[in-house]
Amino acid sequence: MIKFHPSEEHLFHYVTGELTPAMLMVVGTHVDMCSQCQRNVHHIEEDLAQKVFGQRQIPTELKAANDSFDGDDMLAEIMAQTPQPKQHLLNGVANELILEGRRFPLPGTLARSHHRIGAWHKLIGQMWRAPVQVGGEDVLTFIYMAKNTKVPEHTHKGNEATLVVNGLFNDETSEYRDGDFMFLDGSVKHTPETRHEDCLTLAALDAPMHFTSGISRLLNPFSSLFFK
Ligand SMILES: [Zn+2]
Repeated sequence: MIKFHPSEEHLFHYVTGELTPAMLMVVGTHVDMCSQCQRNVHHIEEDLAQKVFGQRQIPTELKAANDSFDGDDMLAEIMAQTPQPKQHLLNGVANELILEGRRFPLPGTLARSHHRIGAWHKLIGQMWRAPVQVGGEDVLTFIYMAKNTKVPEHTHKGNEATLVVNGLFNDETSEYRDGDFMFLDGSVKHTPETRHEDCLTLAALDAPMHFTSGISRLLNPFSSLFFK
């Protein structure tokens, strides 16, 4: 059962294509995994279509006030940017990710972008990362944490959106499982760890991480590993 979802605002911007490419992937993958957000996205799409088509019925005397709003252009843009419906068959390799002998099934949005996923690199401890090239300024990366791994406490200079693709991790406040979506701004300090099982996450980061606690300050160059 998914407990943590993108905000209404994120979903709205997902529908209108106003997220960065990295955020679009993280939110889109969550939507793939979450029937509740699929329903919300559908409602937002309906509302928007209503507004766009409704615009045509606006009486001429009111039209001047709305001249700056071009419904047709907006709809064309939405159609161009909204992710296309799921495709089913993907060849044997494209719909999974393999690391250390573990196979992770990939939700549709990620499977369709399989060719953008780079090679795994080991970070400190039992953590690996694989970058996903989606363009834009943000960084999109898979992060895999083996069981009993702890990320040093850190804050973010920017925003971080994280989606649990497979597995389970904890931080000071909650437990996050498959499909859970977190959005943290620069004010949040947290220490993710895997106590019970390993965990594969997808993270969109818009600025380097900044480690805050004790010796992990020395690890600050670690953040640059996320931004190569
Ligand atoms: Zn959801």
